[in-house]
Amino acid sequence: MQEKKSKFINCKIIKRVDVTKDLWKIWLEPEELFNFEAGQYCTVGVDGLERPYSIASSPKESLIELFIELVPPPDGKLTPVLHNLKSGSNVTIRRKAKGLFKYKEGFTNHIMVSTVTGMAPFVSMIREGKVLDDLNRKIWVYEGASYINEFAYDKELELYSKKNSNLFFTPTCSRPDEPENNGWKGAVGRVNNIFTSVFDEIPDANQENTILYACGHPEMVTELSKKYSDKLSFIEEKFWKP
Ligand SMILES: Cc1cc2nc3c(=O)[nH]c(=O)nc-3n(C[C@H](O)[C@H](O)[C@H](O)COP(=O)(O)OP(=O)(O)OC[C@H]3O[C@@H](n4cnc5c(N)ncnc54)[C@H](O)[C@@H]3O)c2cc1C
Repeated sequence: MQEKKSKFINCKIIKRVDVTKDLWKIWLEPEELFNFEAGQYCTVGVDGLERPYSIASSPKESLIELFIELVPPPDGKLTPVLHNLKSGSNVTIRRKAKGLFKYKEGFTNHIMVSTVTGMAPFVSMIREGKVLDDLNRKIWVYEGASYINEFAYDKELELYSKKNSNLFFTPTCSRPDEPENNGWKGAVGRVNNIFTSVFDEIPDANQENTILYACGHPEMVTELSKKYSDKLSFIEEKFWKP
């Protein structure tokens, strides 16, 4: 009789980079083959406590990259545990990747709006390459954060936008007056207000030619859904319940 496979794959944390005191990236090496599509999430666990995390790496990479925000105790349960793990520690992931928040072919205009960790699925989609293949397609990526040190993928996205004439990247800082944001010369304001300037470039945006992807903070996602889901094609990933 064939042995039934466990639901879990053991993974070692190969690398960790702290972005701020409560935001960090980890790279997991799975012990077995783990298949996923760009934009999907994996279910990470420690001692049976599990939570979903969007994957920032592309399916072509050998390590699984995650970008995580600490929810301090007593509210946060798994993130305080994950935050204490160093390179060399082990976690599990469920064997099956999940999620329908994926790149959708067939649209001329792709507008990707995120807050902080919500950049992860977009990074995966862009690194995978399909998004940038067709020069007739345009991709606008908006990354919103309160503090400029929370932009964890801005350098990478700036490079993509320099190399690809069809990708436009805008990081925006919602609290420009805070001392931590001194010297910021980029866009200011909440991402849900800033990204609307894209419609100057696509005045004929409609459900057939334009898709809006919203990922991260649930209030940002709900606001965009209310305003745009009947005007444009719309998909969303909320990271928590408000
Ligand atoms: C599809 C999906 C993908 C996700 N991807 C990511 C990801 O890439 N990176 C990431 O950091 N998180 C991601 N999350 C959130 C993640 O699953 C956990 O909920 C989060 O890390 C907190 O875990 P916790 O066990 O510490 O707290 P939980 O027990 O999950 O939550 C405790 C409380 O905090 C709230 N909460 C959860 N996350 C936040 C937050 N970031 N800010 C404020 N309040 C919060 C919850 O609603 C709850 O009220 C994702 C969630 C979903 C549903």
